[in-house]
Amino acid sequence: MPKVTEDVYHIPGQDELMPDSHTYVLGKLSSQNLSLIDPGLVGKGSYKIQSIQKAGIELSAIKRIIMTHTHLDHIGCLAEIQKQLPWAELWVHRLEGELLEQGDERAVYGMDMFRGFCQEHFGLKPGAFKFQVNRKLDGGETLDFGDTVWEIIHIPGHSLGSIGLYHRSMKILIPGDVVYADYAIGRFDLYGADASELKKTLIGLAELEVDILLPGHNQIVKGIPKGYILKTAKQWESYLS
Ligand SMILES: [Zn+2]
Ligand SMILES: [Zn+2]
Repeated sequence: MPKVTEDVYHIPGQDELMPDSHTYVLGKLSSQNLSLIDPGLVGKGSYKIQSIQKAGIELSAIKRIIMTHTHLDHIGCLAEIQKQLPWAELWVHRLEGELLEQGDERAVYGMDMFRGFCQEHFGLKPGAFKFQVNRKLDGGETLDFGDTVWEIIHIPGHSLGSIGLYHRSMKILIPGDVVYADYAIGRFDLYGADASELKKTLIGLAELEVDILLPGHNQIVKGIPKGYILKTAKQWESYLS
């Protein structure tokens, strides 16, 4: 499992018929207070857990699971991961956390057609994604976990409760599915998505100094050019209003 920096591990998504999100593990190993970001697609739990163990990380050091958002390709194997880490808390943005607690799966599947297909393909029952959330995030929190400090930013547009994690001194941004490498952005046609919100989000993120972009899919980028997010926003502007 590649290390991005001393305190950030990256477990690449294993895409198949459907994408599997990247998983990140944040925090200093010595702290025994690590955070796992985005489990991934249904069926990928054991791959992710084995990758963590192969990196020499003790599972007991992982204290919480944080979701950038609750689409199926990120939350699909949450239950599998929770079985291995029953002590880990679940932290999600309030807007999607409340849906999860109610067993409202609109934000998981995004659209009815996709729900039908996935339930059939993976043998998922209605209500498979009802979870108790330990901490509902609002955005604006500064969290000191694992001896590293991350800011939580609410970045709606791709989904209602998308959050980004930002490490200000290392200039690392984990934007979920909001912005990717190669000037790509997340889709904005699913439940809870909003093109004009996504535009506002991108323009807001463009204010941040970012060196390392760790998106939910595809390439991770170290040393992204200055103004990358703003340029991305501009390229998509006409589609986002
Ligand atoms: Zn995704
Ligand atoms: Zn998504």
